[in-house]
Amino acid sequence: MPGFEVFGEEEKREILDVLETGVLFRYEFAEQRKGVYKVAEFEKRFAKYCGAAYAQAVSSGTAALRVAMAALGISPGDEVITQGFTFVATWEAILESGAIPVFTDVDETLTMDPEDLEQKITPRTRAIIPVHMLGAPAPIDEIVAVADRHGIPVIEDTAQACGGTFNGRRLGTFGAMGIFSFDPVKTITTGEGGMVVTNDEALYLNCSEYHDHGHDHNPVLERGLEGRRFIGFNYRMGELQGAIGLAQLAKLDAIIAEQRKHKAAIKAALEEVEGVSFREIPHPEGDTATFLAFFLPDGETTRKFNGVLSDEKAGAIYFKNNTWHFYPKWEHLHGGLTLCKTGWPFKKNVRGEDLNFSPSSLPKSEEIFDRLLVYPVPIKMSDDRLKTIVAAIEKAAGSQVRV
Ligand SMILES: *Cc1c(COP(=O)(O)O)cnc(C)c1O
Repeated sequence: MPGFEVFGEEEKREILDVLETGVLFRYEFAEQRKGVYKVAEFEKRFAKYCGAAYAQAVSSGTAALRVAMAALGISPGDEVITQGFTFVATWEAILESGAIPVFTDVDETLTMDPEDLEQKITPRTRAIIPVHMLGAPAPIDEIVAVADRHGIPVIEDTAQACGGTFNGRRLGTFGAMGIFSFDPVKTITTGEGGMVVTNDEALYLNCSEYHDHGHDHNPVLERGLEGRRFIGFNYRMGELQGAIGLAQLAKLDAIIAEQRKHKAAIKAALEEVEGVSFREIPHPEGDTATFLAFFLPDGETTRKFNGVLSDEKAGAIYFKNNTWHFYPKWEHLHGGLTLCKTGWPFKKNVRGEDLNFSPSSLPKSEEIFDRLLVYPVPIKMSDDRLKTIVAAIEKAAGSQVRV
């Protein structure tokens, strides 16, 4: 990752198809567009790739989360469970739906801890959003089993694991719906963009209508004359994004194959280091290999190790300090900071309660993140770059022995 590393003639050709018609809108202009419907084509191919019956393209991964929750009828005061290690978008979309995010710990899979999930379900839980973080699958069978036992729908946040699988089935197709992101740093990118996939026709129709002001997309009627079953919003994808998406999707399997080679090469160097262990991956064959996550025995050793890696120009990400992805660092959430003068959604919520997110409420995750380092895995990696990384690891391992 990211997919722009392999932009080429294919993306250019797809964009030119659109520019030649002049139609940037995914709907209407039937004559002018001469049969070019890039977003519709992207949806069709994406659904097929995932093995899902339906795909709805939207303007971003964040929008995909919002649209999926709208389709399920998530309402103010509902609780939606997600995990304390994810991109802020996951819980922003929950709050934007009027619902209340509830956070589980992650375990050494770096995804939702199924035991903590069980503990956090209440009579008000209306959806569960596990996140396949850093390119690899969550234990989605266990999570769906817990959800099914309680009759609660699952939305898989697959924004970071596009193309991944679990027991041979594509991630994003285990729950009621799966969402994807094609933002600038994702495995395949359209600049901005997202997708919802589902096998449920009623949910798909809800997504399709909600994401476009409630239009029911009746193919026979003129657009302005279409019916509306409910109010919606605008989360549409445009034709230029759809065009790039088509070119990128065609490269996805090759992207994953390259990443797997590079991940294995970096991992081989780390395997030589005493005390290093690796992230637990529930179904390793389904890993998209966009990241390599590893542990050292304790926090102090981890920070020292990464200090040497950084000095050698091969620093890893220390997610414990990451303000975008890790619960204890979300100061705006903990502080209930909002532009709304009433304090919504933190104050005066529909239940008349104030929400309170304490930064220290996920101690198990904090313990794990204290000793976690992560390398992003590039699609293109020169031999020189690999040499730099391996040399840095060897140097860090040496200095670790001296400690
Ligand atoms: C990127 C991301 C999103 C949001 O996608 P955007 O397209 O950037 O809005 C949601 N969830 C996760 C886990 C992500 O990494």
